[in-house]
Order: sequence, then C-alpha cells, then structure tokens
Amino acid sequence: MPKTDEGKSPKARGGQFCPKCGKTQGEFIGLFCRDCFLKDHPDLVHMPEKLELEYCQRCQKVRVEGKWVVQEENTFKNWIEKKVNVKKLHDANVGIQLTPRDDATSDVDVQIEGELEGQPVAFTLHSKLVPRKSICNDDMLVSSNYYEGIIQVRFTEKTMEKIRQVQQDIDEALKPLVKDDSKAVVTNWIPQKFGLDAWIVSRKATKAAANFVARKYRGTIQASPKLIGLSDKGKHESRMTYLVRIP
Ligand SMILES: [Zn+2]
Ligand SMILES: [Zn+2]
Repeated sequence: MPKTDEGKSPKARGGQFCPKCGKTQGEFIGLFCRDCFLKDHPDLVHMPEKLELEYCQRCQKVRVEGKWVVQEENTFKNWIEKKVNVKKLHDANVGIQLTPRDDATSDVDVQIEGELEGQPVAFTLHSKLVPRKSICNDDMLVSSNYYEGIIQVRFTEKTMEKIRQVQQDIDEALKPLVKDDSKAVVTNWIPQKFGLDAWIVSRKATKAAANFVARKYRGTIQASPKLIGLSDKGKHESRMTYLVRIP
C-alpha cells in the first residue's frame, strides 16, 4: 500500500461520536471518525508504488497502453492518472506533480480531492516513475534488416565520387522525415556494377528520397511494386522499387 498522508475533512459536528472507538473530536467521514473509516476502507484510493514506463532508446517514444507514442507535455500525467484508482470517491479531482531525480526516475505526488458520504475528503499518494529502456516496433524493424522500399540508382558512368554524393543526397532527403516517420532510414547500401541500391524501411520515405535524387540530377524514375507477403493482419504487403537512372 502506498503511504496515505493525513488529508482534510470537516470537523465533527457538535455531539457526533464514533460508534467504533468512541471518539468525539477530530474529523469524521459519515458516521465514523476518519481513522476508523479509513481502516474499514483501505482501498478507497490507491495507485501502484512503482510505475514503470517503457521508452525507446532510439527515438524516445514511450509505450502507452501498448502503443508507441511521441512524448508530449502531458503524456506522463495522463498515463499516471489512469493508474490512480479513485472509483469510490464522488467528483474526484486528481492533481499530479512530477519531480525528476538524478537517476532518471521521477517522484510522483498525487493530490486527490473528492467527496465521500457527502463530505469533502482529500488524500495524497506517492509513487515513483521508473523509465525502462526498450525499443519501439519501428526501430526493431530497422535493426532487423527489414525494408519496404529500394532505390536503385544507376549511372551512365559510375564514379566513386558520384556514389558518395548520391548516398549523401539520400541521407539528406530522409533526415527531415525521421521526426514523423522513424522508419525513414537506410538499413543497407548495396554496391552495384552501375550504381548502388539503398534499402529503406519506410515505403513513403523511399518514394520521397527517390524523387529527390531524380529531380536533383534530372534523371528518370521508374517505380515497380513487388509482393513480399502477408502482414500479420492478413493484408498484402508490397515492396516498392524505384529505379533512378542518372545521365
Ligand atoms: Zn473511530
Ligand atoms: Zn523507437
């Protein structure tokens, strides 16, 4: 059980006494003194003592309800709020404060106000937010040599200088896309007799980078899909190949 601080509730009305312990002074909830009431209802409000949250060590996304999401201002607070159980209170109001520590964890203080047996009550709970290193689905694909697109760059006349330049161009075209599409990365460069192939995890990013290179060198571009199998949802998945010929 997390610690519960002394909360606030109204003073006993004149003449009230607790049928359990006989107390006549102090705070009452319903017919009972606050102590007796809380003893009888140990699970009025609670939250786990430790809150573990997976984060991707590559892109910093966090896993919320099974989904990898970009961290935003209220990502943590919204997630923590769902871990706080206040179902037994009426009109519960939950305030969350996070205090980061040097060891990457954060202290979590939760203020809860609500109504119980017609009387206002307040609680404070404490927990600890513990980030756990992980790797998101997209980055897992990247590290396992999975790819949805290929750019085949072919030169009329191949030189090492041209190869290096086109590699830079592809990287440059992908760079601004990574923020919204963590699959916009090259997993493999394959040298070819008349150029090189770039394997790219994201299909959309492959298209963007192929167009970028074709435009820059006034080349031609030719797209062809190839079926690579079924996804786990039974959808047909295809890999796109973009042949970019540079004069
Ligand atoms: Zn009592
Ligand atoms: Zn990631």
